Amino acid sequence: MTSSPSVLHDRDMYWMRRAIDLSKLCPPSEGAYSVGAVIVAADGTELSYGYSRETDAHVHAEGAALAKLPADDPRLKTATIYSTLEPCSQRRHQVTPCSQLILGADMARVVIAWREPTLFVADCVGVEQLVAGGIVVDELPELAAVARAVNLHLLGNT
Ligand SMILES: [Zn+2]
Repeated sequence: MTSSPSVLHDRDMYWMRRAIDLSKLCPPSEGAYSVGAVIVAADGTELSYGYSRETDAHVHAEGAALAKLPADDPRLKTATIYSTLEPCSQRRHQVTPCSQLILGADMARVVIAWREPTLFVADCVGVEQLVAGGIVVDELPELAAVARAVNLHLLGNT
């Protein structure tokens, strides 16, 4: 049985709203985005969640969520990760970028609400890397403004 596109869209909106709620839990930072992420299994159950700076000052939402699951958890291969921001494609200090973590977990699908602006990284290619790695990437542009709202202090008035 397959679900209709509108049912899938409603489900995506539900989980992205949860990710946006998680992004509001991030310890404030003047130099990094507040992002929330949820990992949802193919059967619709939540497997994990994370948010920026949840467990240490540098952890990203996607990394925090993945770190709570065994790397070889078989459910990851058919899971979707909802992240309020495009997964990063490069990081300083030789930390593995989130797009590489997601590729390494061999996840099925990534859903994002907004793309990284050219504020800290000149050109984020997280989506491109994920697509090249065979992962389905979908955007929910109708939630981009809400996902962005927790980061307005970083973005100025643009
Ligand atoms: Zn990241």
